[in-house]
Amino acid sequence: MASSAGDYIVSEQRGILYVVATPIGNLGDISMRAKEVLASVDLVAAEDTRHSRKLLTHLGLEKKLISLHEHNEITRIPEIIQLLADGQCIALISDAGTPLLSDPGYRLLKAMREQSLQAVPVPGPSALTAALSVAGLPTDRFVFEGFLPSKSIARVGHLKSLLAEPRTMVFYEAPHRLQKTLDDMAQILGGDRPACLARELTKKFETVYHGTLDELAARAKCESDMRRGELVIVISGADSAPSTLVQDVSALLNELLTELPPAKAARIASRLSGLPRQEVYALATRLAGKQ
Ligand code: SAM
Repeated sequence: MASSAGDYIVSEQRGILYVVATPIGNLGDISMRAKEVLASVDLVAAEDTRHSRKLLTHLGLEKKLISLHEHNEITRIPEIIQLLADGQCIALISDAGTPLLSDPGYRLLKAMREQSLQAVPVPGPSALTAALSVAGLPTDRFVFEGFLPSKSIARVGHLKSLLAEPRTMVFYEAPHRLQKTLDDMAQILGGDRPACLARELTKKFETVYHGTLDELAARAKCESDMRRGELVIVISGADSAPSTLVQDVSALLNELLTELPPAKAARIASRLSGLPRQEVYALATRLAGKQ
């Protein structure tokens, strides 16, 4: 098919893996190019073949499908690499959105890179960019955090490591963990942080909630709908990049707080850093809240 600049749709080369983004809910979001690529390939590697069969049927396509998911990705790699080396063209899709973004595919792409095999992106929907585009928070720099650890201690530890992060942060979250996660975020990152919860994007019950972390956490407690469906949390970065000194003090406090009460820990950290005791104490109580 055509490959001149501007109307390049499907490569003339063989042995290519197309990484194809598919809708995150609204089937109308499939791109024309994604359709053409899916129609052209010899094989579609999908996270859940039954789920993806429905999308292909909707597009009027009958394609050979193989599964590639978290649990079989490693064992599938040699087979896919061989098919590509034999000149087959394959499309990689996930259940929704862009493959590899909190979805399988990284290990395959890494193996392909090692063998100098070619991958071609077919960009399109992702909950990450959809949520960022409506959050009303800075988008010049952001950090994608994916899913936080599900265990409380690990989640809290990870949030603490983000306390001084100046870029907008984007998290995926499961509905049954939303309340706990919002509570932890408010407690650790500060309840007054501007944030956004984007729910069921592109679908019938799409809702975008704006507010501070405290407001979102309080609202989630009262509105059970907020805890339903698919969710993205977007949070403003720390006001201004704190100095390395403040970051060092946070790390020091985290250590001291494992042995000492906040007041004592703050006194020592203030003495060592030269930062005002009150400021260090405020940081210590915030960090101690979730030790
Ligand atoms: N690869 C996908 C992408 O590009 O967005 C993400 C896959 S990840 C396994 C699924 C998570 O993405 C969901 O738990 C939710 O956090 C987010 N998500 C997916 N679809 C969404 C939607 N329509 N609205 C809000 N969040 C969504």
